[in-house]
Amino acid sequence: MSRPAIPEDIKRRVRQHCGYGCIICGKMPTEYEHVTPYAKCQAHDFENIVLLCPWHHTEVTAGRLYKREVETWRANPYLRQQQNSGFYEPLLSPMFKVVFGNCGVAIPVDRKFNLFNINGYVPFSFLLGSKPKFNLDIFGRDGKLALSIIENVIEFRAHFFWDITLTGTKFKVVGPNRKVFLDISITDGIVNFKTFRSVISNVPVIINKNGIHLPNTKNSTSQMGFAIESEELDNLFVTGEPGWVRSQKSLMSFDWLPSPSYAEAWNALFNV
Ligand SMILES: [Zn+2]
Repeated sequence: MSRPAIPEDIKRRVRQHCGYGCIICGKMPTEYEHVTPYAKCQAHDFENIVLLCPWHHTEVTAGRLYKREVETWRANPYLRQQQNSGFYEPLLSPMFKVVFGNCGVAIPVDRKFNLFNINGYVPFSFLLGSKPKFNLDIFGRDGKLALSIIENVIEFRAHFFWDITLTGTKFKVVGPNRKVFLDISITDGIVNFKTFRSVISNVPVIINKNGIHLPNTKNSTSQMGFAIESEELDNLFVTGEPGWVRSQKSLMSFDWLPSPSYAEAWNALFNV
């Protein structure tokens, strides 16, 4: 009889327990390891499965790293120890296009590009071409960085998230209230931002299949604006919902938005 797959809910509990990275070193990507071999126990018990990076998995499989060591790490996974960050630096193939929700954006290659800034703060930027580079920030309830991508290097605070999965070319990050905070896939040189959710400069920013949303919040006290941050936009084309795209050539123009407190902005992330 063939071995059944590990049930999805068991895998998620294992990820949550292990902090989404290798229990020994914190790195992604990870593989599932049965501490007591499946052949022996014939079961997929949550308590018997851990996340290991390919390197540590190899060491365990080869017998150079003992199972009892793995059990010790499972009791106190690297990313569950305070102040530890998950870490991953993918090797990226050439990329030439970025899609945000319903907006196809053909952006200049080999030039650093910021789609927009919010009060001078850039939530994500790209350098597309043969050596693509990504930068992106997601902030947590406390206003501190929960996940950052700096020149492709992903770091995250495990305790903030409900789930993080790296499956093939898909990277998905789920935050509190089980809301998706980041959902990216890369196929044939096209980066597809299905979802992005973060508070940037006290402004809630949400990208989903309907486009880019900047939800209004109550008790707002001031105004904020947005601007495209590239001086060379001849190659920029933006398509999207009428009303927020002013020019097919170069400019995205957003309405002025209220500036809530961080807490209000944070709560607005969960209404969409
Ligand atoms: Zn490891």
